[in-house]
This record gives sequence, C-alpha cells and structure tokens, in this order.
Amino acid sequence: MAENKENKAEELRKEPYFGSVRFFKNMILLTVVIAILIPSVVAVKRCRQLDQILVQQEKLSAELKEAEDALKEYREIETAQLVVEEMGYQTLYPDFYASEPLSATEEPEKVIYLTFDDGPSERTPEILKILKEKDVKATFFVIGKTGEQELQWMRDIVAEGHTIAMHSYSHRYTEIYSSVEGYLADMYKLFCLIRETTGVEPSIFRFPGGSINGYNRHIYQEIEAEMLRRGFVPYDWNLSSGDATGQKASAAQIVNNVVIPAVGETRGIVLMHDSRPKTTTVESLVSMIDQLSAQGFTFDRLTSKIKPVLFGYR
Ligand SMILES: [Zn+2]
Repeated sequence: MAENKENKAEELRKEPYFGSVRFFKNMILLTVVIAILIPSVVAVKRCRQLDQILVQQEKLSAELKEAEDALKEYREIETAQLVVEEMGYQTLYPDFYASEPLSATEEPEKVIYLTFDDGPSERTPEILKILKEKDVKATFFVIGKTGEQELQWMRDIVAEGHTIAMHSYSHRYTEIYSSVEGYLADMYKLFCLIRETTGVEPSIFRFPGGSINGYNRHIYQEIEAEMLRRGFVPYDWNLSSGDATGQKASAAQIVNNVVIPAVGETRGIVLMHDSRPKTTTVESLVSMIDQLSAQGFTFDRLTSKIKPVLFGYR
C-alpha cells in the first residue's frame, strides 16, 4: 500500500509540469490573484489622485474666496469714494440751513398766496402800497440786487410783514443749473445778502423757471433733495398770472388769468413778477384781490409750514 503511494508520487514527479493538472490549477489560482490585485492597485492609485484633486480644489476655492473678498472690499471703497465725490456739496456752506426744521404740511383751505418774483424793483413800493391798503400779506421771491435803494425795498418787504424768499442771485439758468455746486453757490450768495440786509434768514425758495424747466431737468431732483436736506422748502404755483409772456399782458388779462381758474381751486399760489416793466401787474392787483375775496378766499404769506404746490409734486 505504502509502496503504491510512493510509486504514484514518483510518477507525478516524472510527469512534465507544463500542461499538467498542477500547472492548470496554479494558472487558475494566479489568474484569480491577478484579477483581484490589479483592480485593487488601480483603486488605491485612483484614491490618491482623488485626494490630490480634492486638496487642489480646496486650495483653489480658498484662493477664489480671497479674490472675491478683495473685489468686494474694493467695490465698497469705490462706492464710498463715489458717494463722497457726489455728495461733497453737502459739506459746503455749513451755515446755509433753514432756521426751522422742515415741516411743510399745513394746507388751509380757501387761501390765496400772492407771490412776486424777480424783485425788488421800482414796482416794489407800488405793490407794497396796494397790499397795505388791502391788508393782504404776500411773498417776494427776490434776486441779487445790491443798489442801496433796492436793499431798502428788501427791508421794506420785511418791515411790512411779508415773506422774503429766495429766487436766485444771478437768475442765469446756465450757471445755476450747471451743477448742484453751482446752484448752492448762487443761492448761498443770495441767502447771505438777504440776511445781511434784512436780518431775516429766508427758509423758502422758488426755482428760476419753476422747479422743472428746460434747463434743469437733468439736475432738479438732486438740487431739490439737497435744498430739502438743508430744510428749505420749494414752491411752484398753480395760478399763473401770465405777466411774463412775450407780449405784455393787460391788467384785465392778468386778472382773468388768475380769477377764472381760481374758481375750481381750494387753495392757490399765484405767480406774478416784480420788475420794472411789469406795470400792468401792479394795475391788476386791486381788482384781482377784490374778485378773489368775492370768491371766498383769504390771503396769506407763505412760510415753510405751508405745504408747497410743486410741478409733478411727489
Ligand atoms: Zn424769475
């Protein structure tokens, strides 16, 4: 029996290895080992690559975030600089502020506010005389006139209880509407002239040409915002006397231009002019006041408490 086993082993040893059963068994084993090993090695390599990619990605996103933060900071600085550049005029003329805080909310009914632009002039004493006789208070939006007589008329306006208000110093549209700075420079000059002459600090104003006109469309909102920030109240008008049209209007036309549309109004700001050629404006006053009174209106002067009438009032 033992001899038999030995013989078999001897036979196996003598058998050629290639092509033998043992050979094929080993081959299969080897193939299985390779089949397991190769994907494992590939997977490990892949994992390492993936790790590297992730690290790189993290580095890149950190760099990106840094760049974004820097850009954001730059933009903030740039915006702040722009704001400072644009709003630089807010720091100009630190005493150019209305003496009373802005509160233009009162809206009494059946009141007429007569207003006279562009004075004082030779017409001022005539207008003042009629207003005194009629016991009517009005508002004068004056310009920068510096003759001794004109300065006296400014003082007369105040002494008789009317409101002295700002219109502009130069009344030159191209200058005052060139920039906010240009407008402020002009108005501040007038503010100082009125203050020095009459002792009154004006708190209301009227844009030359009205708040919205062909010369200031690009800039009126910015000017208005800055003037409001300083506490000054702007007034346009809803009743135009038509005394500034090319052809000189007669006194009767001026009266009709005001009293006819006034019928439908609960309150009225009347635009008139106080300058040397406006003789018919003076002539229209008595009849205008009488007819408006007959319609049930009373008269008052504008103060910064009175709600403005503004073109396209927002
Ligand atoms: Zn004017």
